[in-house]
Amino acid sequence: MEDLAIYIHWPFCLSKCPYCDFASVPSFDASLYKEFGELLLLDLKNSSKYLDSRCVGSVFFGGGTPSLMHPESVDKILNFIVKKYSIKCDVEITLEANPATFDRNKMQNFKNAGINRLSLGVQSFSDENLKFLGRIYDGKQAINASEIVSGIFENFSFDFMYGYECQTMENLRDDLDHAINFGCKHVSCYQLVFEENTPFYRKMLSGDIKKIDENEEVNFYNFIEDTLHSRDIFRYEVSNYSMRGFESRHNLSYWEYGDYLGIGPGAHSRIFFDGNKCEIVKASDPFLWRAKFGEAEEVNILNEREKLQEMILMGMRLVGGVAIENLYKKNSPRIVDEVITERKLKFLKEQNLISNSNEFIRLTRNGFIKMNSVISFLLED
Ligand code: SF4
Repeated sequence: MEDLAIYIHWPFCLSKCPYCDFASVPSFDASLYKEFGELLLLDLKNSSKYLDSRCVGSVFFGGGTPSLMHPESVDKILNFIVKKYSIKCDVEITLEANPATFDRNKMQNFKNAGINRLSLGVQSFSDENLKFLGRIYDGKQAINASEIVSGIFENFSFDFMYGYECQTMENLRDDLDHAINFGCKHVSCYQLVFEENTPFYRKMLSGDIKKIDENEEVNFYNFIEDTLHSRDIFRYEVSNYSMRGFESRHNLSYWEYGDYLGIGPGAHSRIFFDGNKCEIVKASDPFLWRAKFGEAEEVNILNEREKLQEMILMGMRLVGGVAIENLYKKNSPRIVDEVITERKLKFLKEQNLISNSNEFIRLTRNGFIKMNSVISFLLED
């Protein structure tokens, strides 16, 4: 059976960023942090039936802001996994961190607990940009946090946000230069999206914030790829770039539609269990999740069409695309033929949205810019 990826969701942040619609709530409460550290461990223990006889290839502490966790909680969780399950010898263990939430000592303790890859959600190094994004630290703190991380970890990544009105090509270039100069092996660049029910969305509707136009978005996107490419950091997914061999193995499990188990409030799972690919549904509100703790979880078996749709939806994000042979191997051939028709592929090739290959369905550079429309077209009846 293929390796298993474990995702552990930490639901708290120090404050809520105005563009964020992730499952996270603001809290400073140290006792709550401790309690949720214990609950995450218990949730993992309760999920043993999905883990038995599997080999763990990656563990990812995401959130929220998992760098708010006590390193002892991380240590206990990782200890449990190591003692109880079989682990790949080169297992990747990532923790996401916010620059305002740790010092050198805490970061060293995370490393001692077993974290071997750090993802720093820096978003920008510019004071003005950070203020616009509602982040709770300034450029100096971002630099300081990056120095700490780069002094402790060999394998680390930076997250940036791009595509908003006060950002210029120059400060985007500065951000990328900083990341490269710190020696990072991986960069994620996410375009600012105005998600409904966020303060930014309301400000956009009222005209207080302007969305940048589509051409500017494309310029930013291409600029990021070209800048990183020239420094041997290559795009391998729509928003992710790495040096060769430093792709996020955990995230590849999602995009390659492997098996992953989600622990904690709202954490998603896709796992082969009892002969079926299943999703496990957990309450995303942390307090509701806590209140329902111990109750039987909702486990849904995915049907053939859903499996194929998800596989396309995730796989098309990859620069390598989706192998057609794999689609047939992992899905009902009849459903593949029904959904992925020659007519659709021919049309997308003619529009230069997918490459001219009979083995892969792979977006072109132009196709990546219109990725969502291309995927919707491919999946429509
Ligand atoms: S720190 Fe991250 S998860 Fe928390 S509110 Fe900000 S963007 Fe969302």
